[in-house]
Amino acid sequence: IASGAGGIGLVRTEHLIIRLNRFPTEEEQFKWYSELAERAYPLPITLRAFDIGSDKRIDSLAPEANPALGMRGIRLLMKHKELFTSQIRAVLRASHHRNIRFMVPMVTSVSELQKTRVLIDKCKNALTREGVPFDMATPVGVMIETPAAALMSRELGSMADFFSIGTNDLTQYALAADRLNANVTNIYDALHPAVLRLLKLTVDDARHHGIPVGICGEIAGHAAATELLIGLGIVELSVVPPLLLELKKRIRKASYASSVLLATEVLQYNSGSEIRKRMAIMKKR
Ligand code: PEP
Ligand code: MG
Repeated sequence: IASGAGGIGLVRTEHLIIRLNRFPTEEEQFKWYSELAERAYPLPITLRAFDIGSDKRIDSLAPEANPALGMRGIRLLMKHKELFTSQIRAVLRASHHRNIRFMVPMVTSVSELQKTRVLIDKCKNALTREGVPFDMATPVGVMIETPAAALMSRELGSMADFFSIGTNDLTQYALAADRLNANVTNIYDALHPAVLRLLKLTVDDARHHGIPVGICGEIAGHAAATELLIGLGIVELSVVPPLLLELKKRIRKASYASSVLLATEVLQYNSGSEIRKRMAIMKKR
């Protein structure tokens, strides 16, 4: 905030689980979320539902042969409803200043969002009965971080208040390249045309529904990608604090019209390396 952020685009709430090495209680969560919301107020903060599993492992998870394709994010939350319920209640209780957004990770199906909405409504009803104040209009967003979510963004957008594209995972799943595997870093490329086309699709569907679409993956802070992302129609970029000032400077220098032309041109290319060349990016990040 001291660097001029317009809010906090991604709070990885699973850090609380990793720090405590157990599932936190509703009260522990309420305390943390409230503190974050109060410190950021009146700016908005975006709390991402616990995204455990895969690269965000905790000891109590059963080992899986292919964890990136296994139980993680919303899949795990739907299995541990009591944990998800405690999180939703804590988020809603902390929302009474009206500056909290909540988003769901690792979505692949419309039904996951529907079930999440049902659970949120149940928690809202319970809190109303208990006389607890909360923001009835807390925005609920979807992380677009699987190709399925991007391809279903038209349907998801009719039920979501915003999209946040997680390019770290979207790249991994679109290109079938493990984000942590050094052997495939040459394949793992967030500027691959396949990834950019998924971004474009998501933006078009977000626009269709009139909902905002941002990026919270690392590409948001990539020095050479700013104009391209603006040109694609992304309206929010979420980056780590040290990158903020530089990013704001680049955004202020960018021309919207030439960014749109750049994006239109780059979407015709058939490889990430051509795109990188066009944008004068060094091949190795
Ligand atoms: C992403 O996948 O791009 C993302 C922002 O989430 P994480 O890096 O925590 O998986
Ligand atoms: Mg992710």
